[in-house]
Amino acid sequence: MSTEEPSPEVYESGRGMDAHNAAMREIRSRRDETYDPREPTRVWLDEDNTPDGTRRSLTIILNTGGCRWARAGGCTMCGYVAESVEGGSVSHEDLMTQVEKCLDHEADDADDPAPLVKIYTSGSFLDEREVPAETRAAIGETFGDRERIVVESLPDFVDADKLADFTGQGLATDVAVGLETATDRVRHDCVNKYFDFADFEAACAEARAADAGVKAYLLMKPPFLSEPEAVADMKSSVRRCAAVEGCHTVSMNPCNVQRYTMVEDLFHDGGYRAPWLWSVADVLESTTDTDAIVVSDPVGHGSDRGAHNCGDCDDDVQTAIKDFDLRQDPSVFEQVSCDCELTWEAVMERETSYGMPLAR
Ligand code: SF4
Ligand SMILES: [Zn+2]
Repeated sequence: MSTEEPSPEVYESGRGMDAHNAAMREIRSRRDETYDPREPTRVWLDEDNTPDGTRRSLTIILNTGGCRWARAGGCTMCGYVAESVEGGSVSHEDLMTQVEKCLDHEADDADDPAPLVKIYTSGSFLDEREVPAETRAAIGETFGDRERIVVESLPDFVDADKLADFTGQGLATDVAVGLETATDRVRHDCVNKYFDFADFEAACAEARAADAGVKAYLLMKPPFLSEPEAVADMKSSVRRCAAVEGCHTVSMNPCNVQRYTMVEDLFHDGGYRAPWLWSVADVLESTTDTDAIVVSDPVGHGSDRGAHNCGDCDDDVQTAIKDFDLRQDPSVFEQVSCDCELTWEAVMERETSYGMPLAR
């Protein structure tokens, strides 16, 4: 299948909104980059809050054949398939070469291996069309001496037997699920994701059956929501996720404008503004009483395409958010203030429609 002419396959047909899928297929077809199947998309070292405390982490974005949902059209904000390889699948050998390169990167930049390893694929690590069973088992062995592993997957592919490749190594294991929002209507109509909150709950139960946990990824402000609607959606979503047994962490992330997406088209037409960093702080501050770790990692903060305030305070608010991620202490937000909070308050009061961003 040529990626210049993405087409839905049997698995995808009848899912999502036809108009959204058609628009996203057209937008994605504008891309013409290709990528080397032996190079990981990205790898970096960081620090993360886990149920056992803060841990040094190795984060890997494997370059697989790309998300099968994205090939059908897929999510309105997601440009990740544009980073995938031409042709749609990567062999076991090439995937293991990518893992080796990530280990080399870690050895170059750190004295010891990180206790926490997170593997994302811009799709589903547990989808065997992206990562074959053989590769999944080999990766489980490769990282068997670590403490915890996180693998990304859509709820459909979460399966206790697959997770045994990691739990069987004695690894604390989590599945990162891109739920985006607990509100089915927003997930279907604004994100164009095809599954329901009930499917997320079922995936959490399946993970629990394998002694694994779940980290829910939420998306603040998909297209077609005003700023106050987006904030309200996140406040209720964090609470609903934290109430699901097995979901011990919620990563609540502001939408950013990625290339080759419907969000980017709207952004160029004046119909989309990435959320305010004040909105991110507001949600984090107001959900500290929930029974889950709640974190956020605003990508491209301070830029037009990422969550931003006025330009003067963006770095300070971002620092407070990163501090909150590690300490879960809402008082970090009392340390930051700026005149633009008044503008944000006016937006929260008066913005009633997605097509009327009141401030840039
Ligand atoms: S957000 Fe996830 S499910 Fe949606 S198209 Fe992107 S990779 Fe696929
Ligand atoms: Zn400001």
